[in-house]
Amino acid sequence: MNNSQMNDFKINAGSLIGPGLAWAAGLLLVVIYAPKTVYMNGMVMLGFLVLCIATFWALYTLYREYDKTGKEWPAFLDMFFPNYPIVEDRNELMRNLSGFRRSYSDFLSSGHEEKNSSLQDYATQLMWHSTALQKKRLMKKGLTLEMDSVRRAYSGKGSSVRENKYFDGRYRVNDIYEEISALRTIKQSGKIIKRIKDSEVAHFTLLSASQTGAGKVICPNCGAETTRENLLDGCDYCGAKFTVEDMENKVDSFGLRRDFRTGASKKEAVRELMFPWTTLIAILPLVYFGLIGAFAYMPDTNIFLRLVTGLFAAGLLGLLGWSLKSLFLMLILPILLLISAASKSMDRKMIYSRKKEEEQEKRMADLVRKTDPLFSIQSFFGGVQNKLSAIHYAESPAEINAFSESDLSSLTGKYKDVVDVDIQDMKMESYGTDNMFQRAAVSAELRLLELHGGKIKERNEKVKMTLIKDAGCRTQAVCGASVLKCKGCGAPLSLMEGKTCRFCGSNLDLKKYDWVIERYGTV
Ligand SMILES: [Zn+2]
Ligand SMILES: [Zn+2]
Repeated sequence: MNNSQMNDFKINAGSLIGPGLAWAAGLLLVVIYAPKTVYMNGMVMLGFLVLCIATFWALYTLYREYDKTGKEWPAFLDMFFPNYPIVEDRNELMRNLSGFRRSYSDFLSSGHEEKNSSLQDYATQLMWHSTALQKKRLMKKGLTLEMDSVRRAYSGKGSSVRENKYFDGRYRVNDIYEEISALRTIKQSGKIIKRIKDSEVAHFTLLSASQTGAGKVICPNCGAETTRENLLDGCDYCGAKFTVEDMENKVDSFGLRRDFRTGASKKEAVRELMFPWTTLIAILPLVYFGLIGAFAYMPDTNIFLRLVTGLFAAGLLGLLGWSLKSLFLMLILPILLLISAASKSMDRKMIYSRKKEEEQEKRMADLVRKTDPLFSIQSFFGGVQNKLSAIHYAESPAEINAFSESDLSSLTGKYKDVVDVDIQDMKMESYGTDNMFQRAAVSAELRLLELHGGKIKERNEKVKMTLIKDAGCRTQAVCGASVLKCKGCGAPLSLMEGKTCRFCGSNLDLKKYDWVIERYGTV
C-alpha cells in the first residue's frame, strides 16, 4: 500500500459498532437496576464499569482508524495517543525513496519472474543481486513478501529524512535515514503466515555521478571530468558507458534499522500521555455517575430539572475526581519520582552505550581514512550488508563466489530455509594494511526469518568475518557495468553466474575494486 492509496482510505464507521453496543449495554444495566433500590448495587456498578470500558474502547478504535488512514486527527485524540503524522513526498529525493520502497515491495511480492522490474532502475548491481537472490528463494518456497511502508514524522516534520552527503572520489554518496513505519507480510499460496511491524528508520545509500558545475560530471569509472552526454555514449577517457539511471540516485543498499534517537523521542511522546490518561481514568466514572445517576435515581422529577441536576452533578463529581487524582498523585509522588529517575537513568545508559558505539565507529573510520581519505563507514556497511544477504539466499556457491575468497559452499545448506535477513547491528572491529591488502574485521548481529513446516521462525545469528581489498584500492562504490566486465574478453559478467567468464574462462578479481570476504564464521 503506498502513500496515495493510504489517503483513499475512509474512516471505517463500522468499527465503532462494537464499542457502541457495549456502551448501550452498560447504559441498559444502569437504567434497569438503578430504580430497584436507592443504593448502588452490583449490577449498577457493573453498568458504570461497562460504560467506562466502552468509552476507552471507542477512543482506541478511533485512534487505530485515524492512525491507519493518516488523516488529520481530531484534537481530543491528540491528547491521549501519540500522533506520528504521515509525511508526503515534498521533493525529488522523497519521491525517489517512496518509489524505491514501492518497487522493492512489488518485486518481492509479485510471486512470478519478471523480465523488467522497475527495481533494476533504482538499484545498483550489488543491491539488485542480493534482492534477486532473495526473490528466487521466496519463489522456491512458494512465498511472497510484501512491505507496506509510509514515511512518518517521529521526531518532528522537518527531520523525517536525514541526509549525509559526500564525494568518495568517484561517486557522490548520500547516506539517508528515513523515519518510516513498515509492515512486512509473508504469504504462502496467498495465506498470511507472518507479519512483522517495524517503526523506526530505513537506511539507504544512494549513489550519483558527481556534478562539477557548468554541465560537467565526474566519470564514476575513471574519475575524469566530462559531460553527461559523453558518459551516455561511452566515456572518452575509459570507454565505460552509463545509462541516465546509472548517474542519478542509484540505491546501493537498503535496510530497516533501529535508531536510538527516534526511539527516545517516541518514548518521550508516550511519557507525556501519562497525565491525561490518569485524569481521564479518575474523572470518567464520576462524570457518568453524576450525569446518568440524576436520570436513574430521580424518576419523579421533570426532564429539564433532571438534565440540569445531571450536568451539575457531573461537573461537581468531575471536579471531585480531579482533586482526588491530584491528591493521589501527590501521595505517590515519591514513587513516581523514583520511577522517572530510574527510567531516565536507563535512557541515559542506552544513549551512552549508543554514543560509545558511534565513537568507536568514528575512530575506526578515522583510522581507515589515514590510508583511504574518502572512506565512508556507512557505505562500507551497506556493501557488507548486500553481501551478507546474498550469502543467506544463495542456492549455489557460484552465486556468491565473486565476493568471497574462502569456500562458502557449506553455508548454502545451512541457510537453505532463510527467507528474510535483518541486520540488527554491525561493527568494524579492526583495520590494518600490509603490502598486499587492506584487511578489516567485522562483526554483525542478524535476525533471520526461516521457513519450517509452513511456519516462519525467527533466529538470531552472530557473524564474524574478515574482508580484504587490494592495498592500493581507494574507496569507490562499485556500481554496475564498468567493474562487472570480463578483463579477458570484455564480455559483461552477471553476478548470478559467478566470477568466471563463460566465454573465455578468466576470473573476475573483485578485490581490486571492492571488499571481498576472506574468512566467514558464526558464533
Ligand atoms: Zn571514464
Ligand atoms: Zn571473458
